[in-house]
Amino acid sequence: MLGALSMGITSTHDAVAFAAASSISQVAEFHNRMQETADNGAITILPINRAKFWAGQRFDFEVEFPKNSTNFNVGINGEGAEKVFGKKAIITDYGTHISYRINNVTFDKIGEKRVTASASGLSGRLQAKAAYTVVQEKARRRAKNVILFIGDGMSMQAKELGRILSKGLSNGKFNDVLSMEKMPSLALVTTSGYDSIVTDSANSMSAYMTGNKSVVNAMGVYENRTKDPLDDPKVETAAEILSRSKKMSYGMVTTAAVTDATPAAVTAHTRRRGEQNYIAADFLSRRNPPKVVMGGGAQFFLPLQTPGSKRKDDRNLIQEFKDKGYQFAGTKTELNALNGDQPILGLFTMNHMNVYMDREFLPKNSKVLKGFTDQPGLLDMTKKAVSVLEKNPNGFFLMSEGGSIDKQLHTMDWQRSTYDTIEFDQTIEWAQDYAKKHNDDTLIIVVADHAHGISISGTYKEENGKTGREAVRVYGDAKWPTFVDENHDGYPDNPDPDVTLAVQYANAPDHYENYRFQPEPTVPATTDAKGNVIANPKRAPKGARLVQGDLPTTTGETSECHSADDVVLMAQGPGSEYFHGVMDNTEVFFGILRALGVDAHKGTPEVSFTSESGDSK
Ligand SMILES: [Zn+2]
Repeated sequence: MLGALSMGITSTHDAVAFAAASSISQVAEFHNRMQETADNGAITILPINRAKFWAGQRFDFEVEFPKNSTNFNVGINGEGAEKVFGKKAIITDYGTHISYRINNVTFDKIGEKRVTASASGLSGRLQAKAAYTVVQEKARRRAKNVILFIGDGMSMQAKELGRILSKGLSNGKFNDVLSMEKMPSLALVTTSGYDSIVTDSANSMSAYMTGNKSVVNAMGVYENRTKDPLDDPKVETAAEILSRSKKMSYGMVTTAAVTDATPAAVTAHTRRRGEQNYIAADFLSRRNPPKVVMGGGAQFFLPLQTPGSKRKDDRNLIQEFKDKGYQFAGTKTELNALNGDQPILGLFTMNHMNVYMDREFLPKNSKVLKGFTDQPGLLDMTKKAVSVLEKNPNGFFLMSEGGSIDKQLHTMDWQRSTYDTIEFDQTIEWAQDYAKKHNDDTLIIVVADHAHGISISGTYKEENGKTGREAVRVYGDAKWPTFVDENHDGYPDNPDPDVTLAVQYANAPDHYENYRFQPEPTVPATTDAKGNVIANPKRAPKGARLVQGDLPTTTGETSECHSADDVVLMAQGPGSEYFHGVMDNTEVFFGILRALGVDAHKGTPEVSFTSESGDSK
């Protein structure tokens, strides 16, 4: 580490020159110029150009200069960055580049912030610029609580599948819409990160939680050039802001592992979503830990000696949670026996939980359940979570995720995915009822984090010896699928009726397809001895045909992949009027803070934002 003075850090004055008006076209033009600078590998400013913050939101500020550059100037609205943030920058020479970093900073006042960074390089003076926006708004009618429902990968078509199977149609009209579809506010949300048009669940949930873009596999951070997945400049999440500034409780429930991308992004800051051991331990190391953590993922909480553990140390995090006053549940029966007076850790499987189909519908499928025969559903977990969180008079934030809607589309099993969409919707229906009975002061947001390229192309009926593509029916021949729900539980009694839907996938590896429900779940593709992706011969043995995929065969990608399609957001309750039209995914964060009327200047930031020397190699 080198001293700030020896590297020539001074306040800058030439930043004043960069004081243009902020019309949209100028922002766009500015953005294009930024892109050119970045491509030269010259100076990188983090947060990136066009970032938006809530006033008082904490973040780490980092400028990366090329190696051997000197005489740095970093300014904001014409003043030195150190003066604006009231802190000295930490300068670290990594050999590959030089980092200028000021951790745990904030913009107190709303408005435009124009950042300039310059340095003397080998080929003359280098310069980069970025423009930020800082906002703080208040909804006219304020929410006390927020429940954010994430239908992971629930594209518009995945949601429609839920509607068709759960509600059915007659006379060409739907008998009913899903509960989530009854909400008054509707918006289309774009999903890209700042690195790529197609996102993953870490990156996209990070946008919802921080109001800032990130990159694939990252959450709560901007990506810097060092390899360390835990040293990237952080951006504070909504849960961190609400718990410190309003003393609200928060928690997360999911049908995936609790350390998986979506629940993890509520709190975690890491460049690599795979750091699940770190994420599990990080829940507890917080000044304001989540009051409720429920889902799968016990393998990241058990000490390494325990069979099935994925930890690399002796820490028994379940015991550590208990020592901090948490109740623990490992089964649905245990969960039901807990009261809402104390915080809860619930871990019901080693990794992701089983889907509704295997858990409740075909529960004798012991090969699939692997002994975990007493798992709660998303509704059980959400209800219990609210019973804990609602004890806080300051309100709560709950994230509830239908995680397997996505995971089952990756394995091209739309029937299993759809039964989980129905379970997700029934959980939302309960939450709507809860909001109505509790002063109607809960903002409920339902949104997918990204889409899958699936499409309902017609129906499928095997008759007269026709199977496979010959049994796909389109236009007037399609008629109607024959799903029935005689017991009125919202789920079709038979997932594999005489006439089913023809669901096609736009983003798939080579695979065998027969359009039918698979009682035994299988993966669509596998790799051969040379590592090339090939169709899984075990899939769809009856009447299947080989469908040539459209994904590369040499990248090892054996799953169906996410698409860049926009997703639908539905909302109700105080502040829901914010959500309409076409919105960037980062706006979900701003809608939540606006609904709660947050003053983010209050309270002490999380431990992760208090370190003044966070730069380690
Ligand atoms: Zn996914």
